[in-house]
Amino acid sequence: MASCIFCQIIEGKAESSGVYEDDISLAFMDIQPVNPGHILVVPKEHFVDLADLPANIGAHLFQVAQRISLCMPKTGIKSEGIDLFLADGEAAGQEVFHVHLHVIPRFAGDGFGFRFGPNYTNLPERRELDKVAAQIKAQLES
Ligand code: AMP
Ligand code: ZN
Repeated sequence: MASCIFCQIIEGKAESSGVYEDDISLAFMDIQPVNPGHILVVPKEHFVDLADLPANIGAHLFQVAQRISLCMPKTGIKSEGIDLFLADGEAAGQEVFHVHLHVIPRFAGDGFGFRFGPNYTNLPERRELDKVAAQIKAQLES
């Protein structure tokens, strides 16, 4: 897809700092890293989001991200933990609409984190959790 920056990177038409490549995926440095070592794992084919992404390709992206994550502590990059993050849809923070999995090295005091809403500390009753679980379960089983 000509207008997609990640497709341009895959086709070698835009610059990137690559760390891994195979027939299905490419992994390269995020241009605006949360922390040093922040990597994006992307499918070589243009898939917009999770709904568009074949499950076997998604599984492959996760395997690559896992492999990169496990090697991170041995690289010398500061990495006491890893966040794997995928923003699916604009409301979830997706800015590039070519699906991608973030691999983000984390360390204590790095200043990164989720910002929670005002109701986060009000724990729902078990029956509310059960109700929501039933909604999702029904859809999964339909
Ligand atoms: P998201 O908000 O999950 O869609 O994340 C998009 C990510 O792509 C951001 O972390 C950007 O810094 C990163 N990004 C955008 N353009 C480039 C680029 N040309 N090379 C590397 N990373 C990029
Ligand atoms: Zn693309």
